[in-house]
Amino acid sequence: MSLRKRLAAEIAAEGPISVAQFMARCLHDPQHGYYATRPALGPDGDFITAPLVSQMFGELVGVWAVAAWQALGAPPKVRLVEMGPGDGTLMSDLLRAARMAPAFLAAAEVWLVEVSEPLRVRQARLLGEAVRWAGSLAEVPGGVPLLLVANELLDCLPARQFVRTATGWAEQVVGLDAEGALAFGLANAPQLPFPDAPVGAVWEQSAAQDALGREIGARIVQDGGAALLIDYGRAHPGFGDTLQALRRHEKVDPLATPGEADLTVHADFPAVLSAARAEGAETGLLTQGEFLARLGVGERAEALVRARPEKAAVIGRQLNRLVAADQMGELFKAAIIYSPGWKPPAFEDA
Ligand code: SAH
Repeated sequence: MSLRKRLAAEIAAEGPISVAQFMARCLHDPQHGYYATRPALGPDGDFITAPLVSQMFGELVGVWAVAAWQALGAPPKVRLVEMGPGDGTLMSDLLRAARMAPAFLAAAEVWLVEVSEPLRVRQARLLGEAVRWAGSLAEVPGGVPLLLVANELLDCLPARQFVRTATGWAEQVVGLDAEGALAFGLANAPQLPFPDAPVGAVWEQSAAQDALGREIGARIVQDGGAALLIDYGRAHPGFGDTLQALRRHEKVDPLATPGEADLTVHADFPAVLSAARAEGAETGLLTQGEFLARLGVGERAEALVRARPEKAAVIGRQLNRLVAADQMGELFKAAIIYSPGWKPPAFEDA
């Protein structure tokens, strides 16, 4: 039985579920969840991410990681952790760029935090013996400074949605229509502290994103280091329905094919970073375009063109995709969570 039919049967028996519960099932249901069964990244798959747009992205994150390690005083051991590493491209490009700093590579113990079995298989194919795996950050041992990177992880973490109606706030839930098909509906909710919000305004709240912000903040304060979280999302608190399902690069109805499409919400950077600060960590935020520019993406593109002049047009398009304001440059943000007492590279004034 498809996940759509299973969810409909469960909702018929037990009542509507929150958007967060729906997302979690669509992404991680052991039998039919998108990441449990069919994550398809890349041009032939369902969605594309910055590391798959260009090798420059992972290379510059590698430049950043080496510089962060140096700014921490070049500790003899550091844990280099990637959460949600997808097909492993970012880490592969990062480690290649880091070859310019053999002492960093000698110090770094590389961990991948991955919940998707099919993606672990792909990561193993690309990265082999060089890495270890964990199912959660808590499973990665502490005690030495941490350098954590994650691209497009926060957007997979489920959020609840609240909608302003004429009579107050209600929770958007997934229930059934008269024919028994999955349909959005409204349920009673506690009133949110925005009495003046216009009717139709949607407020998203991700307990999972908040919890990750707290966990990373606490960990970074304890062990020292920094976490670089890159994702599309908001820089300031605000209203908006950002639930999106992507299948073969097309936006599709999130309720139509549960488990067969990637399902995301915007990263809630204000919430994640304030959760980290509540644990005593410092934070900063740049647009992806600004972050990559500060790390020298323009010079990197020129160097690639010098090496492969026949690729100039392709490299130019890739650069534009990563940094242009109307592409990934502004909607995508680079957030930093770091231990007090130093300034991570690229974020000195952010
Ligand atoms: N970072 C990669 C992949 C992004 S896709 C890239 O930029 O190409 C999202 C990644 O997060 C996948 O690896 C997915 O398996 C992982 N993921 C999704 N939900 C997760 C969770 N709750 N905990 C840890 N990883 C998760």
